[in-house]
Amino acid sequence: MKAAAAPVTKKLAPKKSGQKKPSPKKATTKNPLAPERIAEILRRLEAAYPNAECALHHRNAWELLVATILSAQCTDVRVNMVTPELFRKFPTPKAMAEASLPALEEEIRSTGFYHNKAKSISGAAKQLVGRFGGKVPKTMAELLTLPGVARKTGNVVLGVAFGLAEGVVVDTHVLRISNRLDLTHSTDPKKVEQDLMGIIPRDHWIQFSHEMIHHGRQVCVARKPRCMDCPVETLCYSADKTWSRD
Ligand code: SF4
Repeated sequence: MKAAAAPVTKKLAPKKSGQKKPSPKKATTKNPLAPERIAEILRRLEAAYPNAECALHHRNAWELLVATILSAQCTDVRVNMVTPELFRKFPTPKAMAEASLPALEEEIRSTGFYHNKAKSISGAAKQLVGRFGGKVPKTMAELLTLPGVARKTGNVVLGVAFGLAEGVVVDTHVLRISNRLDLTHSTDPKKVEQDLMGIIPRDHWIQFSHEMIHHGRQVCVARKPRCMDCPVETLCYSADKTWSRD
């Protein structure tokens, strides 16, 4: 069982009186995709979240696949409460493929959308047993043929379980922060992923996602981001900023 990451947030200088919400107009005066800016964002995120990793508990690729499917519209904490008993009862793809849908639904009910999620994990288990020798495939193309698996889940499994950088995980945090940092101007996860793949060096794709997700949970939250504690504040020109040292 993996332990959840202990996020480290780099504290910046305290707010001084008179510091105001910045004008978003400044964004137009910078090139947000300048390689040196991207490199500095990566450097600061890595320094702020050196131990960032997937928070979903898992012992193998199969368990990570199931946990990631269950994490849709649900917190990782909740998923981690459900999966130990789920995998105790159905420890392998074969066991899960043979389980009844009501039995699966009962175990995962608290993660929400449990009818669809039960169908997905049951269907994925059957596909693994029937087509992949009971093993999780290692290519995005194959993963995308599994029920309940889109690119986000595929990227999580490939990156975390196999160390393969096939793309960038774009969840709600990555999408929001990427827009705030002007790394993309899209709200379509597929387009955001393409934009990020075009500007982030491939050897950073996996860790960048982990760091952004931690940043989104700890600092750059959806409402009232904690810009005073943000390691990339001086590189951010978002209209959502709540504080600036300028
Ligand atoms: S400065 Fe604020 S809005 Fe910009 S990335 Fe940091 S926390 Fe998010």
